[in-house]
Amino acid sequence: MNFADLGLSPEVLKAVGDSGYDTPTPIQEKAIPYVLMGRDVLGTAQTGTGKTAGFTLPMIDILASGQAKSRMPRSLILEPTRELAAQVADNFENYGKYSKLSMALLIGGVSFSDQDAKLDKGVDVLIATPGRLLDHVERGKVLLNGVKTLVIDEADRMMDMGFIPDVERIVSLMPPLRQTLFFSATMSKEMRKLADKFLINPKEVAVSPPTSMAATVTQGMITVQKAEKRPALRQLLKREEVKTAFIFCNRKKDVDILLGSLEKHGFNAGALHGDLSQSHRMETLEKFKNGDIKLLVCSDVAARGIDVSSVSHVFNYDVPSHAEDYIHRIGRTGRAGMEGHAYTIATKSDSKYLEAIYKLVGMKIPELTLEGMDKIAEEASQIEEREKKSPRSRQNRSRSSAPKREAARTEEPRAARPKKKPAPTPDTSETPEPQNNRRQTAQKPHRARHTNDDDNSQVVGLGDNVPAFFKIPFRKSAEK
Ligand code: AMP
Repeated sequence: MNFADLGLSPEVLKAVGDSGYDTPTPIQEKAIPYVLMGRDVLGTAQTGTGKTAGFTLPMIDILASGQAKSRMPRSLILEPTRELAAQVADNFENYGKYSKLSMALLIGGVSFSDQDAKLDKGVDVLIATPGRLLDHVERGKVLLNGVKTLVIDEADRMMDMGFIPDVERIVSLMPPLRQTLFFSATMSKEMRKLADKFLINPKEVAVSPPTSMAATVTQGMITVQKAEKRPALRQLLKREEVKTAFIFCNRKKDVDILLGSLEKHGFNAGALHGDLSQSHRMETLEKFKNGDIKLLVCSDVAARGIDVSSVSHVFNYDVPSHAEDYIHRIGRTGRAGMEGHAYTIATKSDSKYLEAIYKLVGMKIPELTLEGMDKIAEEASQIEEREKKSPRSRQNRSRSSAPKREAARTEEPRAARPKKKPAPTPDTSETPEPQNNRRQTAQKPHRARHTNDDDNSQVVGLGDNVPAFFKIPFRKSAEK
């Protein structure tokens, strides 16, 4: 099967040809004909399977006839993170270059005015993260009753991040007669139930998640003490011929610490995680793509789905606590038949996570012996010594407890964590798209301000739902 057999227009086929692709991926082969027919689609596919082209290519043809009206987009693509939204926008620009379609990208961290100007002119395709889209809706800058094609991408991730109420609200503002494409990496009962709310008689298409890694990726693992991780990483970086590398950490906090440490030791590195400003993240990503930054220290969420070719190495500074993330991470190297290297730094306490990875990929990660372990151990004991002396670390140690450490490890809310409590508030988790102020007020009552310290009758922003403890008057120091 080739692209020409799928029923796409000559303009789209030409653009696909320019990208150098001649064979559709399985998800493209399965989804494109049904999308072109106007059917709703329920797709199980992960990033890396070519699913973005699976919906963008037919959408370009569907939108070719018709005209956009001011503030009334004709189609909407919802993405959980800014990076994914920007990547889908790149896909649209790329594949739509011979079609005259207008597009707007609504993501947080960029000025409203440019986005407003585009919306005013009228857009065929709107690509957005839920929070920023609702901000525009509430400001009356966008009307969703003209949307005829809706894509809900990475729906499981949206759920993990607590975005589903926003998605439901967005969908409620659209006409019921529309085409909806719903993609999720996994199709749990919960996902199906959700999809049932949005889709009508969908065609189901699925591609199995990747459980194997490219044969061109050399894998290895070293097991060290916790304090030896940083010196061990440096040793690995020195011994390898690293062109560019992703270095994955499980926690945002560790991304920052590791970046500081690498920079201190003279490495050319940048960081990517959900707490950094959008402009900073875009700039860092651009520099990494150009090779101006050699090492990108990142969290799974921020780096999810980011497509950078010719990355020579992936380092797992932490063993991922979700086995499938191991495949996602190491799939960043060894792309398109190129050689790649993936090294994991493990500690004894990671055995549970390693077992899950071995079960998923059907093999063990080969253990490496790292030369210079004596020096690494010495450096580690110096680090430990320094940390013991630091007042901050003493404070942290006295506060920490085993359950808390476990919670921090899985800072990013995931389906595997306690099911009944998804992300309590998206902006407290590793959410690349911070929520808008409206919800910050509603979901973070502790931030609400008293109108007057002595007047405990009214709390701004909470209406009648003021918890009792909020009404306890503050004691002035003189009264103590
Ligand atoms: P996605 O799963 O949409 O994030 O796509 C993953 C990668 O596959 C991107 O680099 C795409 O450009 C690439 N890709 C998409 N379609 C094809 C295709 N038919 N053949 C080869 N690569 C493709």
